[in-house]
Amino acid sequence: MINHSSGYYYSTIAQNKWGIAAFLTFLVLIIIWGVHGIGFIYLILLFLFYNLGMLSLSIWEKNKRTETLKEIFNKIKNNEYENSGEIVLPSYLSGIQSEIRSMYEKIQSDMDYMNKLEKVRSEFLGNVSHELRTPIFTIQGYIETLINGAIDDKNVNKQFLEKASRHTNNLNNLLNDLIDISMMEAGQMRLSFCYFNAEEYFSSVVNEFIPQAEKKSLRLYLHKVPSKLQLFGDKEKIKQVMTNLIQNAIRYTETGGVEIKVEEEERSGKITVSDTGIGIAPEYLDRIFERFFRVNKARSKEAGDSGLGLAIVKHILDAHGTKIEVQSKLNEGTSFSFRLKK
Ligand code: ATP
Ligand code: MG
Repeated sequence: MINHSSGYYYSTIAQNKWGIAAFLTFLVLIIIWGVHGIGFIYLILLFLFYNLGMLSLSIWEKNKRTETLKEIFNKIKNNEYENSGEIVLPSYLSGIQSEIRSMYEKIQSDMDYMNKLEKVRSEFLGNVSHELRTPIFTIQGYIETLINGAIDDKNVNKQFLEKASRHTNNLNNLLNDLIDISMMEAGQMRLSFCYFNAEEYFSSVVNEFIPQAEKKSLRLYLHKVPSKLQLFGDKEKIKQVMTNLIQNAIRYTETGGVEIKVEEEERSGKITVSDTGIGIAPEYLDRIFERFFRVNKARSKEAGDSGLGLAIVKHILDAHGTKIEVQSKLNEGTSFSFRLKK
């Protein structure tokens, strides 16, 4: 805010070369009065003229500053600068040059961020419609074939209905994952944290996957969990994490098995899910956490995997203030691990 007090007024005089000149003139006039003895009324008049002069000079100065600033802001608005270094203010405004430059940099970085968000959003929408189209078209195909006569063909009618039903399930899973991920990204993930006994919890979670592992003749093994270890987290959400990690491990392993380890550390418990499966090539290791990313798109689509599992895992662990780590060797196996506070 501009300070109109006498301090500002006299500091304007001090900064203004015209002001200094007028002030010197005023001094000369006083000396003339002293020497020649002009009447006191003339002195008052001179004083008034002097003040009027000063006032108009300070208004002129203020207008000049405003005009310069207006010009600079218009150039910023019209994107006429390529970088902040191009913003150079005249010497009488040099005091605020660095502030204007940093304001410009902040606006630029906010705009870059907004553009990136917009790109991500439209890519996401594109992916969603693409992913929805596949199961919908497949279901539509089976239904139309049935309507056009296949319904009476005992060799295929049940098979087509089963396939349509399987794709309806895939569609339902995809929609549930999409709802989950958009809630998480909108910051609406409700977590209910509590302490739980690690041994009981992980035994019960792992046991649920024994039938799936047995179907593929894989060994599913939970190493001995420290019996007194209590961990802190949202049990339901951590179950979602474990489900995706164990399901992935079973899905991408053909021989050998899946092992789960819970180790006690000084301030946390470290949970590791490792398998002896196909592994992930190093160039994909960073990408597997992206939404809809699948190493083998054709195979995953056929199986109805949405490719959202690890993106959801990452969000959940972020919300727990922890992160997921992955190590993998092609054709040897993969191991995912994360920590929970104890
Ligand atoms: P969804 O989990 O949504 O059903 P998905 O399992 O394909 O589908 P993610 O869990 O996000 O999706 O995994 C992304 C990709 O990472 C998988 O498609 C797969 O290519 C690779 N991947 C994940 N876990 C493993 C693993 N244990 N071994 C080998 N590849 C894996
Ligand atoms: Mg998965």
